[in-house]
Amino acid sequence: MAIRDDEIILMDIPPMSRTESVYLPEVIRGFGTTMRHFFTSFGQGRTSRTMQYPEERREHLPIEQGGMNASNYRGVHRLNRDSSGRVKCVACMMCPTLCPANCIHIEAAESPWDDREKYPAKFEIDELRCIFCGMCEEACPVDAIELTTEYDIVGLTRQEMVFDKAKLLSVFDATVDKKPM
Ligand code: SF4
Ligand code: SF4
Repeated sequence: MAIRDDEIILMDIPPMSRTESVYLPEVIRGFGTTMRHFFTSFGQGRTSRTMQYPEERREHLPIEQGGMNASNYRGVHRLNRDSSGRVKCVACMMCPTLCPANCIHIEAAESPWDDREKYPAKFEIDELRCIFCGMCEEACPVDAIELTTEYDIVGLTRQEMVFDKAKLLSVFDATVDKKPM
């Protein structure tokens, strides 16, 4: 959509003073910050944030940031199982409808079980397109889809990062102790 002329706001940029125009005070201040971090980073537990990943992993995720805690950390998805070990999803299509990144693809089929009408014959999430907003988790009426605290997902190809139903269920199996339903 084209931008109309009356939607454009012209800003008056104030001229820089002579001191600002040489940037020297800011360069000195920035250099001071760099040197402060350089000297204090020798003492672990002070300002050092460096981790030797993947040998070291961040097990303690940031807590109490913006009212969130680690249990609300939005990492890789999982598809939850019910008490019988079946996928909980009832293929209601709420999550693919709401997903702002359009990265969930489900093929619904008639359920082989008596307690529900449908189940997902195919369920895929493109983890590279996902923006980890958590809307799918919020929308699910049966708590079938969740974001876990797993953050180190890697793949050598784009296709590997499209998680299918089996992979999403395997994430549940791997994380059920860390994040109970
Ligand atoms: S977290 Fe957001 S972007 Fe990612 S699959 Fe869920 S709804 Fe889509
Ligand atoms: S919202 Fe829940 S039940 Fe509905 S399709 Fe998504 S995961 Fe399945």
